[in-house]
Amino acid sequence: MSKPEIEIVKMPLLALRGLSVFPGMLLTFDVERPSSIGALDMAAKSDQLIFLATQKNLTADMPEEDDIYHIGTICRIRQQLRQPKGNVCRVMVEGICRAEAVSIDTEPKGYLAEVSRLYDKDERVSEAKIEALIRNCIGLFEEYLRLNPEAVTEQILNVLANPEPSYVSDYISQHVHFNIGDKQRLLECLYPSRRLTLLSKLLTSELNIMTLEKELSEATQEQMTQNQREYYLREEMKIIQAELGDDGLVDDIAEYRERINALPVNDEIREKLLKELSRLQKQPFGSSEAAVLRGYIDTCLEIPWGIYTEETKDIEKARKILDEEHFGLEKVKERVLQYLSVRRLTPDVKGGLLCLVGPPGTGKTSIAMSIAKATGRKLVRVSLGGVHDEAEIRGHRKTYIGSMPGRIINGIIQAKSCNPLMVLDEIDKLGSDYKGDPGAALLEALDPEQNSTFRDNFLEIPFDLSNVFFITTANSLDTIPIALLDRMEVIEISSYTDEEKLQIAKGHLIPKQRKKHGLKANQLRISDDAIKEIIRSYTRESGVRLLEQEIAAVCRKAAGGIAEDKFKSLILKQGKLESILGPAKYKPDQIRVTDEVGLVRGLAYTSVGGEVLDVEVAVVDGTGKLELTGNLGDVMKESAKAAVTYIRSRAHKLGIDPDFYKNKDIHIHFPEAAVPKDGPSAGITVTIALISALTGTPVRSDVAMTGEITLRGRVLPIGGLREKTMAALRAGVKTVIIPADNESDLEEIDQMVREKLRFVPTDHVDKVLDVALRYDRENSICCTPEVPAQTERCAVRQ
Ligand code: ADP
Repeated sequence: MSKPEIEIVKMPLLALRGLSVFPGMLLTFDVERPSSIGALDMAAKSDQLIFLATQKNLTADMPEEDDIYHIGTICRIRQQLRQPKGNVCRVMVEGICRAEAVSIDTEPKGYLAEVSRLYDKDERVSEAKIEALIRNCIGLFEEYLRLNPEAVTEQILNVLANPEPSYVSDYISQHVHFNIGDKQRLLECLYPSRRLTLLSKLLTSELNIMTLEKELSEATQEQMTQNQREYYLREEMKIIQAELGDDGLVDDIAEYRERINALPVNDEIREKLLKELSRLQKQPFGSSEAAVLRGYIDTCLEIPWGIYTEETKDIEKARKILDEEHFGLEKVKERVLQYLSVRRLTPDVKGGLLCLVGPPGTGKTSIAMSIAKATGRKLVRVSLGGVHDEAEIRGHRKTYIGSMPGRIINGIIQAKSCNPLMVLDEIDKLGSDYKGDPGAALLEALDPEQNSTFRDNFLEIPFDLSNVFFITTANSLDTIPIALLDRMEVIEISSYTDEEKLQIAKGHLIPKQRKKHGLKANQLRISDDAIKEIIRSYTRESGVRLLEQEIAAVCRKAAGGIAEDKFKSLILKQGKLESILGPAKYKPDQIRVTDEVGLVRGLAYTSVGGEVLDVEVAVVDGTGKLELTGNLGDVMKESAKAAVTYIRSRAHKLGIDPDFYKNKDIHIHFPEAAVPKDGPSAGITVTIALISALTGTPVRSDVAMTGEITLRGRVLPIGGLREKTMAALRAGVKTVIIPADNESDLEEIDQMVREKLRFVPTDHVDKVLDVALRYDRENSICCTPEVPAQTERCAVRQ
């Protein structure tokens, strides 16, 4: 310690609030109180020395003697800086030595004190202990600096540069944030080793507090960062959802729950939906799983649970609607009215299952629509054409992204009713492949025995389809899976005759198209003859679809001409069609007048209805080759070969060279080679043509025939008799040979056709040779006693 500069003196006193100054340290602080400013002024006027003592009570403005610690530090004022405004003064002091105020004069203009200087006391402590204490304190101070983010770490250098016990303890005491009481204890302690010990204790406890504080602040910080992160993400999510028009998952879940609880469904279904909803709630926003679940719940909510339309009870009204919209189709109409009557008597009868089979354009779909109207059910159409995959009927499992319910459940959603009339179009075009059998799935949906708990793969909950009225449509029964066919009530809709087409055009198609094109009745008239001409020369079909299209074309012309003021109305007469519809598309079937050898008129049934199909046979010398041409299918080729074998077996009786199959080449040709042909019903036609060619006997030109034959010449039944006979009439045929087994079908044939044609039913080719071939009386080789009887029998039917 340096030599004392002052022993005991009276000097100004400045009471410090919350501060302590240690000897050898520099301290800068602001002074404002008048008594303190006064003390500074006094010091400035003398030797710049001032006694700095700490106030015990921070709040006292004018502390009394007892409010001030008596032990403090004598300091030298190094700098004083008066602020331009106010009475604040910034002052820098340097601690000189510890001192004690013997008395204090609390003069308001400036405190004065009589102070005596204090010296460090000698003590008997080994240097090693002092050194250890110093090192300990320096180590702790270093740690303190490391933990204190505001500390200047270079401060440690100042201590290391001067490792003297008083300096070390005073320096550290000055720079560590101890509380005032502790700092005062350090100041009052005059034994360096005790001071170092005290300092070390205080530092240790301070470090403990700081470590705890740091841990706490880190934990809080972490918590805060986590909270902030979540808050930030949530805010961001809200923005994204707002952008997407999504009102927030939370709101959605609540809304979904409300809607599910309000559904009129049983507990099983409700629980399933609520389970899926809670799964959705747990999914992170935007995940694909969430999208799947959301799609699932949305779909389930779209199903019209518990919504049923009331069925018409008024049978007369239903009959009126059906009659108004469709000509003919009596069987279908009758069946629907029967169904309604039964429903009225026993309301427990569930939905129906009809299958309408017939050629295209015969009104299957449109009568189904009228049935919906007549029964008061909602209508929904589902097309089955080309459906190969079972999942199209029964849906995909919802685990696949983009999966949906099948067409049946989709139909229910579209119909917005649980008891709609569902038209399943083209059930005969259902396919089946490795992806499963859609027919089996359809069976489950249609079968009244099992469709009350139809399970769609997507929905995973049973849906009751038993109230749905199903109407399926098909062009032919052949390709409908047999299990399905068994369960359906099949109603056949046959081709229309020209007369029927005329009635349909007049009563329905023309008024419908006129309305569609905004024409009044007096603005377009089409004469009956003109309609017949359209039917004959512009269409070739079983139904009336093309006819409707041609009528629509006429309406377009009329509407266009009237709009452009070319004419006020259009009256269409026979022979005037070319200017409107272009040249005729079909020539009338040629009526043949000459009987020719080897040329026979067959009858075929195609998708456009019945057609006359000629067969030509040429026999030339050769080596027994059989040539078949005309785009024939396998069945047709086989039936031609069977015909050859039959003739060989009857060659002798028929007066044919038994070796013809060795020395003649036979060519059988079906004209219109571009059109593919198949089926067994040309068997009898080929046989007659062959016999005619081999015997050189002409075939009657006004005879047509149809029937399958066996190797022994038996004639087997065929289909499409109604259509075939209509075609025969058109082609000017007078006699039609038909299989005896088809005789019962003659009832179905149109009245007018029946009146104009002579039918010859037969069970064997031999019996109709006289009917088909024109033999010379002398050359007649045929002895067929039954034939006259047959014809006789059929004559009744002429
Ligand atoms: P399909 O389903 O049998 O192929 P559509 O139902 O599509 O035939 O019928 C084709 C058009 O012919 C429709 O505009 C329909 O209204 C009309 N049509 C068919 N048959 C009749 C009929 N008997 N009476 C009135 N219009 C008919």
